[in-house]
Amino acid sequence: MPDFNDIDIKFLKGVGDARAKVLTKEIEVATFRDLLYYFPFRHVDRSRFYKISELSGEDLPALQIKGHFVSFRTEGEGARKRLVGVFSDGKNMMETIWFSKIITFATAYKPGVEYVIFGKPNYFRGAYSIAHPEVEIYNPSKPPTGFRGVYSLTETMRKKGITTKVIQSLVANLFMNAGFDSLKDPLPEEVRRRYNLMPLREAIRQMHFPENARLLQSATERMKFEELFYVETHILRYSMERSARLPGYYFGTIGEKFNGFYFNVLPFQLTGAQKRVLKEIRADMKTGRQMNRLLQGDVGSGKTMVAFMSMLMAVDNDCQAAMMAPTEILATQHYASLKEWADPIGVKVALLTGSTKTSERRIIHEGLQSGEIDIIVGTHALIEDTVQFKQLGLVVIDEQHRFGVAQRAKMWSKNTVAPHVLVMTATPIPRTLAMTVYGDLEVSVIDELPPGRKPITTLLRYDNNRLEVDRLIFSQLKAGRQVYIVYPLITENEKLDLKSLEEGYERTVETFQGYRVCYVHGKMKPAEKDHQMDLFVSGEARIMVATTVIEVGVNVPNASVMVIENAERFGLSQLHQLRGRVGRGADQSYCILMGKYKSGADTKKRLSIMTETTDGFLISEADMKLRGPGDMEGTQQSGIAFNLRVADLTKDGQILTRAREAAFALLRGNPSLLPEGTLPTPPQKGDPLPITVNEEESNVIRKELQIRFAHSVDWSLIS
Ligand code: ADP
Ligand code: MG
Repeated sequence: MPDFNDIDIKFLKGVGDARAKVLTKEIEVATFRDLLYYFPFRHVDRSRFYKISELSGEDLPALQIKGHFVSFRTEGEGARKRLVGVFSDGKNMMETIWFSKIITFATAYKPGVEYVIFGKPNYFRGAYSIAHPEVEIYNPSKPPTGFRGVYSLTETMRKKGITTKVIQSLVANLFMNAGFDSLKDPLPEEVRRRYNLMPLREAIRQMHFPENARLLQSATERMKFEELFYVETHILRYSMERSARLPGYYFGTIGEKFNGFYFNVLPFQLTGAQKRVLKEIRADMKTGRQMNRLLQGDVGSGKTMVAFMSMLMAVDNDCQAAMMAPTEILATQHYASLKEWADPIGVKVALLTGSTKTSERRIIHEGLQSGEIDIIVGTHALIEDTVQFKQLGLVVIDEQHRFGVAQRAKMWSKNTVAPHVLVMTATPIPRTLAMTVYGDLEVSVIDELPPGRKPITTLLRYDNNRLEVDRLIFSQLKAGRQVYIVYPLITENEKLDLKSLEEGYERTVETFQGYRVCYVHGKMKPAEKDHQMDLFVSGEARIMVATTVIEVGVNVPNASVMVIENAERFGLSQLHQLRGRVGRGADQSYCILMGKYKSGADTKKRLSIMTETTDGFLISEADMKLRGPGDMEGTQQSGIAFNLRVADLTKDGQILTRAREAAFALLRGNPSLLPEGTLPTPPQKGDPLPITVNEEESNVIRKELQIRFAHSVDWSLIS
């Protein structure tokens, strides 16, 4: 008999082929297990009824209103035909709308009968309405109690009649299935006991059909713990394996190149933070194990110098180093900085990108193979198979979020010994996120900017301030400075009421006559883009009109104004990145966020965070709270299958910490759960007491890991 978890959903009573197809396609529910874990995303208190006059704001959750239908009418023709019901709560009225089964609904609900309608109110032109509400007769002698789950349903599901009620009945059928009672708990008993967690079956019941708020709370906590426990177990398994298995180059000496650079060439004093991070990196490179370190530092904090000096450690120990950048523009800029620093100490740097000519490419390939080239800077071109190194000791990856783990892995496979890896990002990541998404990396932080930077003045402005903004731009241009203007779109789009680069370009040329304007966007040919970039870098063009392609790394210290059109369209972290393009010189710089005057209070509040702080960590915390971790830059392409369904990294930091500790204790107590061939590293002071599990439990854990992470990268293939 197959495991209850694995049974095809079509075999569940009430499903069948047709519904199974919809469930699989729409919400990825393909097995019994998938449905068990398809929890309501919210629970509504069934005894709480809203008054229409209480509704406010644009983004309301689904809620209940008690009242009666006053009248029904149909509107529109053909495919647009709809049924509109007027619903009264006794005092105020609102509309309910049906787009299908019009005839059924038009006659189903009787005037004068008291109903409870349930759904998400939409706000349109000053009034609220609910589309396809769920409707129940209200029975005053038996008022509803407890909670009702709200499942996320797609439009297609609704059209096919798969409502919350249907999902509830399917889940109830699952609970009646004989297999449910013998479902194994993926959290071993000892873990449940130590952390005081509800057993699986009860937790699942309470998640779908909570009896009361307290039980729902415990169930939720248990399910969050389970989810985070497995994420952490997954991450820790591989990081334990790697540190046990992957030997790294031993860089014992600080040699001639490093010292020569440090004492004779280094054009400024390192900041305290840069020094500290260099020490951390140096310590890693002396352990004999491979380094995997994430270097976080705000824009302009001087990560490139840290990277360069780390590369010198490799060169001093007869190894080569590679630096990968996400774009050609950025690679070229890095190459220029690195070359300037490397030439005086006789370290050879080369550049390899997609547009390197074939003949030149061959010379570079040879230089890398012979060891004549010490440092190579490049784009994705570096991970092409033909690139071979004599001895690659360190890989630096700039702006990590554009490179997935698989690509990191590809760099490693170019060596018999895995090179040390330093991943640099200017998108600060909240701690909880770093623990999950980058849980396999050690983290260093540069939390100090080089001295002498003037803080950037950030202003929130609207279309009716256009003249004031133009005046500011003019005054900066007259002072010899340069200006960026960023647009959310390249071309005008009828559907979206947004400013586009094309119209913006025309307006800019017309408004700022006498100043050359250049432009870049993501759809240009590389050669054309480079040409436009050069115009700006050389100062020939004084204004650059662009889309967010300039977000990453471009460095023009003379630029002092960043104007962002339709700023409400961008995430805070992205705005922070864009703002980091200015303020790179010693002069006062400005970032002007052009907002939409009509946008809601939430949007205005969000944008005003930008005017209040320039601290990237604060901004990313705020951004994560507002948008949720799944939408954060840097998470989509991360190696760990990152789709938390129950846990919320913005709120569940404490559960995460406990889950990580439990995962650690589990792996400590059961080396057989580690990837094959991994010898556990010796225990350290402060480690939690190991947790041991029996054979049956370890099998359940193995199976669970497989279900949850079958599609993520297998690190063991990499080493
Ligand atoms: P990011 O961390 O954004 O990559 P960069 O490495 O591009 O920052 O550094 C920004 C600028 O600051 C560069 O011009 C760099 O040379 C300069 N810089 C780096 N470290 C220092 C320092 N300690 N003192 C002064 N300037 C520095
Ligand atoms: Mg940089």
